[in-house]
Amino acid sequence: MSSTKKSQIPRLQQQLLDWFDRHQRVMPWRAVKGKRPNPYHVWLSEIMLQQTTVVTVGPYFMKFIGKWPTVHDLAAAKLDDVLAAWAGLGYYARARNLHKCAIAVVEKCGGKFPRMVDELLELPGIGPYTAAAVSSIAFDQPAVAVDGNVERVVSRFFAIEEPLPLSKPAIRAGAAKLADGVERPGDFTQGFMELGATVCTPRKSKCPLCPWREDCAARKLGIQEELPRKLPKAVKPVRYGKVYWISNAKGEFLIHKRAEAEVRHSFTHFDLVLDIWSGDTKNPALEQSVWITAKNLDDYALPTLMKKAIRLCMNGKTKTA
Ligand code: SF4
Repeated sequence: MSSTKKSQIPRLQQQLLDWFDRHQRVMPWRAVKGKRPNPYHVWLSEIMLQQTTVVTVGPYFMKFIGKWPTVHDLAAAKLDDVLAAWAGLGYYARARNLHKCAIAVVEKCGGKFPRMVDELLELPGIGPYTAAAVSSIAFDQPAVAVDGNVERVVSRFFAIEEPLPLSKPAIRAGAAKLADGVERPGDFTQGFMELGATVCTPRKSKCPLCPWREDCAARKLGIQEELPRKLPKAVKPVRYGKVYWISNAKGEFLIHKRAEAEVRHSFTHFDLVLDIWSGDTKNPALEQSVWITAKNLDDYALPTLMKKAIRLCMNGKTKTA
């Protein structure tokens, strides 16, 4: 990292900003040139983009801002409606936190997203990456948001050979060095991510198109395709669960909203969470259960895993007790 001198930083920043001005992709949450982005749009897109691609997120983003044009509208929405609109994006905890965060912004912040990273971190569902992204993109604050794209660009630019995740502190330091004192932090953050997404790609990086090609250490060494290195992944443990399929003579089946009652217990290698279920023979349909048919299945925000289970059950591929 020492090979990049402080005096080179303003030139590198300008090169990335010029490149971003020319090559940035149009995205529904991006402000048009010369306008400040809407913080609600920036926050919503960043939450949706966690573990989900830009192509998938686009229609969901449009659906959300169509139904709930402001953070006030989203805060006033019913959680079940938000979960139903989210169906298909996965990781439902994100949707629950999205709703909680909208309520917190309205109730605690007067409907305005805070500008600074430490204030954003106080809100539900906002971690260090999202706080930095919202602070810099929406408010042009000098915060450095390091996502997977930025990690790749930085580890190649400085030829950081230490494997991830051990190299994270060095990558953060490298990203901070490149962003230090930049004039347009919001555009720089987006440019950094855009470079990783479109030019400095995981395979077959397009180095001849890169604004940093003359200064990139990995390119000079010819090792860009090998970086970032990664520690071998631990073997994924397999967990087992059970699905109870209850249908009636009318061809309906019973779905039940998960109760808030749960017991958590830590074992050495994993945490176990038990949902507590109860019922009696006089009233087998629990209070929150509802009989539905295949036709109105889409009215309920069921996770992909549950949809797979339902398909199997409907095809009669079940064990009987
Ligand atoms: S020169 Fe190539 S490897 Fe280096 S930052 Fe640019 S695209 Fe990535």
